Amino acid sequence: MSAYRGRFAPTPSGPLHLGSLVAALASFLDARRARGRWGLRIEDVDPPRCPPGAADAILRQLEAFGLHWDGPVAWQSERHDAYAAALARLEALGLAYPCSCSRRQWRDHPVYPGWCRDGVREPDKPRAWRLRSDLGLRPVRWEDRLFGPQAFDPAELGDVVLRRKDGLWAYQLAVVVDDADQGINEVVRGADLLDNTPWQRQLQHALSLPAPRYLHLPLILGDDGQKLSKQNLAPALPDTEPEARPLLHRALALLDQAPPAALAGAPVDEQLAWAIDHWAPSRLRPALARGEDA
Ligand code: GLU
Repeated sequence: MSAYRGRFAPTPSGPLHLGSLVAALASFLDARRARGRWGLRIEDVDPPRCPPGAADAILRQLEAFGLHWDGPVAWQSERHDAYAAALARLEALGLAYPCSCSRRQWRDHPVYPGWCRDGVREPDKPRAWRLRSDLGLRPVRWEDRLFGPQAFDPAELGDVVLRRKDGLWAYQLAVVVDDADQGINEVVRGADLLDNTPWQRQLQHALSLPAPRYLHLPLILGDDGQKLSKQNLAPALPDTEPEARPLLHRALALLDQAPPAALAGAPVDEQLAWAIDHWAPSRLRPALARGEDA
């Protein structure tokens, strides 16, 4: 088996919160336990969603929690040429096509019906690029390390957008190209991305790229039963080590790792050393954890 290469890939649309800490921590522990590499990729592929300073804030938060990454930080905003090459390759394979349709036009369909597959309908309008899902129709299958066997019918997935009408690269394309170029063979991330994985598997297949293994983590819910996220204003994590200690302990408990109570006030490096030694993904439950007073 090749050496473990994992990553944490936050979108810098705001500072990290407890939910993102859980994803960062689990992917870190999984990589460190396997004596693997743990990279950091800032997914700033959509600049209007990324306020200035947010990426720096994330780096400071990760440092405060002792989550030190290997190698230089990768930035999606610097990867235009790689994404363009992947799109050109898909186009040459007849697997990508320009599309002028707007959501409004196909709102009565569950997924985009592929009207532009054989030629753009309205050539004067701005166009997005989509992946053809109707060629080589085979169910998309993979085995998630926590959620088990997954199978999706390409007809349900539709023709995913690769490049948006405003010229920005779509998340699905960027993630697949980056994971492959960075040699990522283990993806550990939140279960909110489980339903994105079939498009990523499709794209890996279309581009003949190796598929990483996937472990999707239980989501952390706030008091209100909603997923913790920037949108529902989950509090930002601190960026100093003393303040990080109790939250790190909390995150380990949310990951069902049962950290000893005595470790709660310990320096983060000490907590992490314990957590790497005891990392047991088999303790995770494919249910939703509750962040309570998160
Ligand atoms: N950038 C995505 C997010 O912050 C995560 C992508 C991934 O881990 O594949 O939700």
